[in-house]
Amino acid sequence: MSSRSPRALILSAARILREAGVPDAAHDAAALLAHLTGGEALALRLDTDAEVPAETAEAFDRLIRRRAERIPLQHLTGTQRFCGRLFRTDARALIPRPETEELVRRAAAELSGCPEGTAVLDLCCGSGCIGLTVALDCPGVRVSCADLSADALSLARENAARQGADVTFLLGDLFEPCGDETYRLILSNPPYIPTAVCQELQPEVRLDPLMALDGGADGLDFYRRIAREAPAHLLPGGSLLMEIGADEGETAAGLMRAAGFAQVQVYPDLAGRPRMVRGVRL
Ligand code: GLN
Repeated sequence: MSSRSPRALILSAARILREAGVPDAAHDAAALLAHLTGGEALALRLDTDAEVPAETAEAFDRLIRRRAERIPLQHLTGTQRFCGRLFRTDARALIPRPETEELVRRAAAELSGCPEGTAVLDLCCGSGCIGLTVALDCPGVRVSCADLSADALSLARENAARQGADVTFLLGDLFEPCGDETYRLILSNPPYIPTAVCQELQPEVRLDPLMALDGGADGLDFYRRIAREAPAHLLPGGSLLMEIGADEGETAAGLMRAAGFAQVQVYPDLAGRPRMVRGVRL
């Protein structure tokens, strides 16, 4: 095998990443070479014949060194797949997580067959992955994406343009920019990690914006506020569906019941961990 074959480069890069403590070293090395060559990661991992041009090998080496510093893969490639679409990713907003796809599936099921113009809000939208996917996959909906971070909204706007999604962007603190608008469905993946835990997260997650992660002392600040403020922005029969931390289900459900929500239920993700809570405004 040539020393500059894709396979050889990936194997030696993976060793460097492994030593730096990167969890999926070989996967990430292949993904970065694929990013540079436009090839397919799995095929590159098996390719012992081709010769990677010297310039590409040097660029690869630079990317591997940055990944070894625990810069997230998605900040280096600039993209993350979410519900089958490529979203732009950088330090302006939380990198879309696969767990969140389940929230979108549940929302899409709830919106199937909804009348034209049904209003949906994605609160704390970040990169826009939730709201934009709903806008693209659910015919008839009118989606608004809100966030306190102008940086996050600028990234969400780029994603909307890239995906050809027609949504309204709202800048401000939770419901403040929504005026007296009411929605059929409010979706949110708010910050929910307890402040002290934010300091212990793996290095990559610490490069997500802290404001996308920090949910206050017990992680529940946003559920308290959203549960209290959401009813005024929901149509009768409308629902609130939120992502939660795996140990927050009962408390978040309790907050929603206390705020008057009916049919409050905690739902598991694909791994069976409680990761969503939903309730209906009567
Ligand atoms: N799921 C994210 C993580 O584990 C947290 C996202 C959030 O706080 N909304 O890093």
